[in-house]
Amino acid sequence: MIKEILDPVADRLLRQPSQPVKAIDGVVREVAEFLEHQMTLEHSGRKSDGFAAVQFGEPIRLIIFKRDTLTNLVLVNPKIISEKSSVTKLEECFSLPDHAFIVTRPKMVKCLGLNLNGEAVMIKGRDSLARLLKHEVDHLDGILIDKIAERRLY
Ligand SMILES: [Zn+2]
Repeated sequence: MIKEILDPVADRLLRQPSQPVKAIDGVVREVAEFLEHQMTLEHSGRKSDGFAAVQFGEPIRLIIFKRDTLTNLVLVNPKIISEKSSVTKLEECFSLPDHAFIVTRPKMVKCLGLNLNGEAVMIKGRDSLARLLKHEVDHLDGILIDKIAERRLY
């Protein structure tokens, strides 16, 4: 089950920073595999483009995201290391079901993290990928879009 803010315990968890991953062990791999599986499922009638582990109750710094139409990528301890210009757009989050927000995000980001082999990976994202990366990394800092939105639409 995706953690939603409607549940007060989940709400508290979602708004706390997640812990850095110290070693990519069997537990971390299992969490990654679980998220990989969740990407194939529909949630509230549709698939997600990304998740942070904390959304499923595991507060470690691990995200998964759709890099392109074919590939999901897992990043451990991801950090946004640069961002350029900004775009204001509608954004939703599976942890804030039935709401949509207008959020200003960078148009371009560079994100550095580790893959599951512990190798450094740098992802350059623009437009929707930049937004997605920022959204998921924000989850790891306990930042949900209701706190940074310009407006809530519904
Ligand atoms: Zn989200």
